[in-house]
Amino acid sequence: MSALPPHDDLLVLGLGAPHDDLVAAACRLFAAGARSAGPLDTAAEARGREALPRGACAPLLFTTGALLRAAAERAPLDETAAGPTAPAPLAVLSLGSCGPCRYALFEMAWQRALVTEGRSPIRVVGPVNSGASLHDWLDTPLGARLLEAIAAADALVLSRNRALPRAKHAAEVEHALAAATAQVCAATAAGAAPLAALASARGWERGVRAGTARVIARVRLIGDPWSVHANGDGQLCLPSVLAPLGVEVMAPPALLWLRYSLWLGRGEPWGREAPVTPAQSAALAALDARVVATWKSACAALDLEPTELPDPAWLAQLAAPFLPPTLRGGYGHVEIGLARDAVLASSAHAVISVKSFGCMPSSGVSDAIIGAALEDALPFLPLEVCPDGHAARESRLALLAAEALRRATRGPDRFRERPPS
Ligand code: SF4
Repeated sequence: MSALPPHDDLLVLGLGAPHDDLVAAACRLFAAGARSAGPLDTAAEARGREALPRGACAPLLFTTGALLRAAAERAPLDETAAGPTAPAPLAVLSLGSCGPCRYALFEMAWQRALVTEGRSPIRVVGPVNSGASLHDWLDTPLGARLLEAIAAADALVLSRNRALPRAKHAAEVEHALAAATAQVCAATAAGAAPLAALASARGWERGVRAGTARVIARVRLIGDPWSVHANGDGQLCLPSVLAPLGVEVMAPPALLWLRYSLWLGRGEPWGREAPVTPAQSAALAALDARVVATWKSACAALDLEPTELPDPAWLAQLAAPFLPPTLRGGYGHVEIGLARDAVLASSAHAVISVKSFGCMPSSGVSDAIIGAALEDALPFLPLEVCPDGHAARESRLALLAAEALRRATRGPDRFRERPPS
C-alpha cells in the first residue's frame, strides 16, 4: 500500500532539481499529480526570508520560499478560504529537518508562514528522521522507486560535476543536464523503473565536452547535510562557479545522507527513544546494503566510474580522534570523516565547507575542528550560504582554486587530464 495520501495534489520539496523532479516522477504511479515544488533559487530564499524570523538557516529559508511560491501558484488567496469550494489540503513530501537538529523544525515554520500569508495549512508526509520511519517508507514498492529516483539524481549530478570543468561552457552543461533530467522524468512518470529510465540518458554530456586537455584540481565538498546535497543556489552553485577555474567539485551523493540516517537508527537510542532491537538493526542494515547496491547500479546505468559512498561507521572511525560519534547534530561526524579521508587518501587538492548561515552544528565543526582534522595538509575554505558577501566569496574561491591548481599541476599523473577519446 502506498504511504502517499489518496488525493493527487502532492508537492515534492527537498533538494531542488534534479532530485525533486525525479522523486516527483517516481511518485506519479501512486499520486498522479505529484510534482516538484520548483527551483530552490535565490528568489525562493528571498521569499522565505520575508516570511520567517531573522536568523533562520538556509534550508528553512529556501524551502519555505519555494513552498509559498508553489502554494500561491496552486490557488489564489481568495480560493483558500474554508468553505465548500476550498481545495483539499496540499500534501508535501519532504523531510522534517536536516537531521537530529533541534534548531530547525521545518514543518512548524512552513505552517506558520502559510497561515501568516492567509493560506490553508498543508499536510506533510514523508519519513521523519528515525530508522523505523525510514524503514517503513523505503521497504515498500513506492520506497524502492524513491530510492532509485534519488540514486538516479545523484548519478546525474555526479556526471554533471565531472563534465563541468571539462566542458567549453558551464551553461551548456546545465542545459544538457536539464534535458537529460526531463527525459528520465518522463520515462519514470510513464512507469519505467528510474534506473532503467536513467540508462536511456547515458552519454548525455558527451556533446558539451571541450576537445582540449587541461589540468583539473579536485575540491572535496563538506558541510551541513542540506547545503552539501542541495543543487543550485543552495550550494552557492559551486560546481558551475569553480568549473571555469579548472576545478572539479567532489560532492558526496545524497544517498550518503540516507546512509547516515540509517546508521543513526541502528545506534544508541537518543532522548526517549527505545533501544533498537536486533531484528530492527538487521532490517536497517539490509536497507543500507540496498542503498549501496542501488548507487552502484545508478553509476552503471550512466557508465560512470562510481564515486565513493562511504560507510558512516568508517567515517566515524576517521573522525573519532576529533569528535565522539555519539555527538549528534547536522552532519555529525560525517563532515570530519570526509575531510580526513581527503587527507589520508590524497583524493582532493583542497576542501571547502559549505554551510548554512546560522547553522550551529556545522559552524562548530568547520570553525573549531576541521582545521585540526586536516593537519595543514590541504587548503581549507569555509563558506556560508547567505545572500551577502558575494564578491568576497568569489575572490576567496579564486584564491583557493589557484592553490588547488598549483597542487594539481605538481601532483601525480592521475590528476592530469587527457584529451577525450
Ligand atoms: S543542521 Fe544546520 S542547516 Fe540543517 S537544520 Fe540544523 S541548523 Fe539548519
